[in-house]
Amino acid sequence: MHNTTVRHAGSDARGAGGPAPRRRRALGHDEIGVVMEILRREAPAWGAPIVTLIAEQTSDPFRVLVSTILSLRTQDETTAAASRRLFARATTPQAMLRLRAATIARLIYPVGFYRTKARAIRAVCRTLLARWDGIVPRDLDALLTLQGVGRKTANLVLTLGFGAPGICVDTHVHRITNRLGYVRTRTPDETEQALRRKLPAAHWIEINDLLVAFGQRLCRPISPHCSRCPILTHCPRRGVTVSR
Ligand code: SF4
Repeated sequence: MHNTTVRHAGSDARGAGGPAPRRRRALGHDEIGVVMEILRREAPAWGAPIVTLIAEQTSDPFRVLVSTILSLRTQDETTAAASRRLFARATTPQAMLRLRAATIARLIYPVGFYRTKARAIRAVCRTLLARWDGIVPRDLDALLTLQGVGRKTANLVLTLGFGAPGICVDTHVHRITNRLGYVRTRTPDETEQALRRKLPAAHWIEINDLLVAFGQRLCRPISPHCSRCPILTHCPRRGVTVSR
């Protein structure tokens, strides 16, 4: 089997069998709808991210919140199994607080930082009970006051837990929107602000689902599969130096 990795010098793709020469123009405002439509069509073959599946199965903001905390720095399969074990024991803040931190840690092992996350989940539950009667608030600023909850988690709870407007920008959304040239930003927070300014509202909720699955399967962090990418003709591949 021959190696199909292609290294790019400057803005030109090189190598037989590699992707077509990259275009220089950034993804235009009028093209984002076309790109999202293509990704929507392809997405069923990639499978949904784990938190999306939990949201679809439960329609429960609390479980979306907890599973999102579990998913940070953790593979989807590990998050899925840990969520199943934990939610078999507790699906409300009250029930969760009846579990000791050590018990939660044992149930969610081996998710990343499982001891820290066990303590964070208990702290979140205590705050939910003390300030919102055990109900997850449908408000970005309120969610951001919870321990261990950053903008990514808060936006995901809003969009998946409540179906409310929000843009969840994780590493995949940040990387891919920059490769497309749709934004030019240095951090996920900057990307979220840029997308809030220019992304049509119709795509706010779905962009995370679509780009996470796409980023896990094709537009990989290192050496993306540009040669079989369904949106190649729309992409200037900004910052991509090696692809397959
Ligand atoms: S896989 Fe390549 S062509 Fe497709 S979006 Fe990513 S960088 Fe662009």
